[in-house]
Amino acid sequence: MTPLIDTHCHLADPKLGVDLEDVLERAGAAGVTRMISVGAIGSIECDRRTVAISERHPNVFAAVGVHPHDAKDCTPARIAELRDLARSPRVVAIGESGLDFHYMHSSAAAQEAALRAHLELASELGKPIVIHCRDAEDRIIEILREIGIPRAGGVIHCFTGNASAAGKFIDLGFHISFSGILTFKNALAVREAARTVPDDRLMIETDAPYLAPEPYRGKRNEPAFVRGTLEVLAQTRDADPDLVAARIVENAQGLFRLPADPSN
Ligand SMILES: [Zn+2]
Ligand SMILES: [Zn+2]
Repeated sequence: MTPLIDTHCHLADPKLGVDLEDVLERAGAAGVTRMISVGAIGSIECDRRTVAISERHPNVFAAVGVHPHDAKDCTPARIAELRDLARSPRVVAIGESGLDFHYMHSSAAAQEAALRAHLELASELGKPIVIHCRDAEDRIIEILREIGIPRAGGVIHCFTGNASAAGKFIDLGFHISFSGILTFKNALAVREAARTVPDDRLMIETDAPYLAPEPYRGKRNEPAFVRGTLEVLAQTRDADPDLVAARIVENAQGLFRLPADPSN
């Protein structure tokens, strides 16, 4: 089985915490040999737990940030705490940050301020940025055109936009990551976008425990399920799943500057 990587999951989420060791074992059995676990949900404790998990498990790496839902809590003190956590060599990215105009759990102004602070931190630390974008493609593209993408690059995670938005993000230098949404029946525009992303910008993720791909839609998601999304991605691109998997691993390794896969 070609090894695969889940480039975005939330292993510190209590829904996965109940049987995390089993979750990781099932990932390994499905050939998902590495994972990027993103903190960023709720309080700084989530980032701390995420870094701790990555320090215990050689195949798990971490990203730290403040989710756009919680942008109202993204104070300078919180950014300083993230900077401290990012000293761990296991932290390979900053985020997720971005704009979520669908749920609007924080005001647009707070979300924008937090996004700018994250972009600055990523640039300062020389790490890539993980962007969350929901119903906010135009505004994020405007902001990024204004201040630019961090020199270490970045990824638009759980891409839900159309081919035109994907093209603009690619022109800015981003990778595009597809989640289980790609497998949903009504996700025609997302699949259309997935056909247009160049091979060297392609990424895949679960966003577990959220957004399980078909046929698990509505259930708890976990990294092993990224295989199902890979199948649909390969089908959509009329490509060989093993070749797509190998390309994604290469892309993720490059963007997140991961050491060589110890299980290979
Ligand atoms: Zn997200
Ligand atoms: Zn996420």
